[in-house]
Amino acid sequence: MGFDGMNCPNCGGELPATVLHAKMVACEYCESTVLLEDDALKTAGTKGVMAREPSLFALGRTLTYRRETFLPVGQARFSYAQGWWDEFWAVDGGGDGVWVSVDEGEIAVERPYDIGISLSPARLSLGANIALNGEQFTVTEADRATCTALRGEFPEALFVGQTYDYWHLFGPLGRLVTLEYSDGEFAASEGVWVDPYLIRSENAGA
Ligand SMILES: [Zn+2]
Repeated sequence: MGFDGMNCPNCGGELPATVLHAKMVACEYCESTVLLEDDALKTAGTKGVMAREPSLFALGRTLTYRRETFLPVGQARFSYAQGWWDEFWAVDGGGDGVWVSVDEGEIAVERPYDIGISLSPARLSLGANIALNGEQFTVTEADRATCTALRGEFPEALFVGQTYDYWHLFGPLGRLVTLEYSDGEFAASEGVWVDPYLIRSENAGA
């Protein structure tokens, strides 16, 4: 993608250079999010209010987990009944994109996943067993969240104020699949919960 040196269609400010499959970027100078499509830029929505919280996770600060590194380039905040959490879109050491979900001490690292079947949300009741790509998963959480703020860049269009139904499914060997449903479409990611005490910040102690 070659969106370097592009300007915000709302305020004219220079958009940050994107690094990974960016389809949407939040302007640093105004309240806009900008959709990057077919070499055209258009204002998509607003980026919302992101209250700052003390966290190891910050845009542009590399983290390590065991032997892996993650550089967060996008931060999306979602509110739900129990509070809020952040989804960081990050670049791993191999240059691939991962989602790092941070809900206080509960952290999951997930990669985009093709569920391979068409699903109906009605099948995803708590405790339901679902076969995905030949493996059995169980629905362990079902809830609804609303996007409240966006910063940085994302591989998909996200909108402040949009509501998402989501489910966590547990599979063999601690594997986690997250399904999101909005506007009639599923998005899926697959990964594992990680031990927050093994995450290190490159700037720790600085
Ligand atoms: Zn702008």
